[in-house]
Amino acid sequence: MIVDNSAFPTYDRNDGELPASVDLVVIGAGVAGAATAYFAARAGLKVLVIERRSSIASLTTAASTGAFRLQHDNADELALVQEGLALYLNFAEESGLTGWNLDIRQQGYLFCSRTEASAAKGRELVALQRTFGLTDVELLSGDEARARWSYLSPEIRQVRFRAGDGFIDQVALTHGYAAASSHAAHISGASGSGHATYALETTVTGFVRDASGVVTGVATNRGAVHAPQTVIAAGPWSGVVAKLAALDLPIAPTIRQKLVMPNLPVIDQSGPMTIDDETGSHWRPALAGAFALRTDPTTPVGEPLLEVPTDEAMAHALLDPASPTSLALLAPFWRDVWRDGPPAWRLQAGQYEYTPDHRPFLGPTDQAGLFVNTGYSGHGVMCSAGGARRTVDLLLGRAAAAEEPLRVGRPMASRSRDVL
Ligand SMILES: Cc1cc2nc3c(=O)[nH]c(=O)nc-3n(C[C@H](O)[C@H](O)[C@H](O)COP(=O)(O)OP(=O)(O)OC[C@H]3O[C@@H](n4cnc5c(N)ncnc54)[C@H](O)[C@@H]3O)c2cc1C
Repeated sequence: MIVDNSAFPTYDRNDGELPASVDLVVIGAGVAGAATAYFAARAGLKVLVIERRSSIASLTTAASTGAFRLQHDNADELALVQEGLALYLNFAEESGLTGWNLDIRQQGYLFCSRTEASAAKGRELVALQRTFGLTDVELLSGDEARARWSYLSPEIRQVRFRAGDGFIDQVALTHGYAAASSHAAHISGASGSGHATYALETTVTGFVRDASGVVTGVATNRGAVHAPQTVIAAGPWSGVVAKLAALDLPIAPTIRQKLVMPNLPVIDQSGPMTIDDETGSHWRPALAGAFALRTDPTTPVGEPLLEVPTDEAMAHALLDPASPTSLALLAPFWRDVWRDGPPAWRLQAGQYEYTPDHRPFLGPTDQAGLFVNTGYSGHGVMCSAGGARRTVDLLLGRAAAAEEPLRVGRPMASRSRDVL
């Protein structure tokens, strides 16, 4: 389904002079920046969101699979997604955009193990998730799983399934945050006369500081804007933008490919996201077909990109039954898809914005006046509401930075890149 919210008011654009000053500047109009503007405007702030591209939600956010899950291996991300889901399920009422469609579909995430080693890891993970209070993840044998999802391969020994996980249209979500932030008086719980405006085709090139060195705004290709607080929400570019303020933010941009197959009648549109634990290959129903992806742990870290190149090899890695990462290992019908002539497909690519521990950075930095809401490490759609609400609470002084588990400068254990 292609979501059409064109009947609704859109976000306000700044097409004239930039304002001399606002309460808050947000750098970047992806899902993280728009969510930040939503919560800041709801709290009564005058916000300017600055975006170098000609449309919002057009870089990493556009490439996303738009999936969300509570099945995480850490309580930090679980809390962020739980908070987000509560908003996404009631977005039209909460945002004041009555009738706004996010195409939210709770069809589940189905993780499949083909070896005893990964099945054992799966059982440990479910036990860990129970300690976080997540008690509705089902652990099923291969036969039990095949009785429910007949497409699964006979090789599958065990699955983990949570029915409440699912997908959302992330572009509709970002536009929803943006539209609501420009009409903030209608957001549930709004206080004051908050409002956000979006300056597109405007690039932040530096920071403005006062005599004591406090960041008091940004320099752009269209002039300076002063603000007592600025949030970097520039996705894979956040490390580069932070460097303009002499801030060292470890963000590792890593290319990820999405295979889009718009018409594939064999895909059950009511089915779950189905993931191969052994290879990371997965697909989810989308459009009248599927999106298929693989989180390849060997992809090198690169520089942030404005145009992310696609790589046809990923289509073959997923679709060719001879490939060691083929989807046919998970569900034999993919073999027939290949045999019958590969379906019409196209590729879309973006960059994961990995931090060392694959959790975002939220809140103040060592540069007074400068905050971050970034580094979602491939989970920025599902975590957007929780992360942005917490960032705004931190900049308003409603929460203490020292108590924020995802603060900049926290101790971090590095993680491998073989998880979704
Ligand atoms: C293939 C793929 C699949 C994914 N699947 C999922 C998924 O299923 N679920 C999920 O939750 N997440 C998923 N993600 C991750 C998710 O898409 C990202 O975490 C999220 O979109 C990041 O949003 P953002 O706003 O931080 O970054 P972006 O969307 O990249 O936005 C940052 C913006 O900042 C702007 N910018 C940069 N520098 C400047 C500057 N100097 N001045 C002005 N503007 C600037 C950029 O132009 C850009 O528009 C996926 C990512 C990829 C690549």
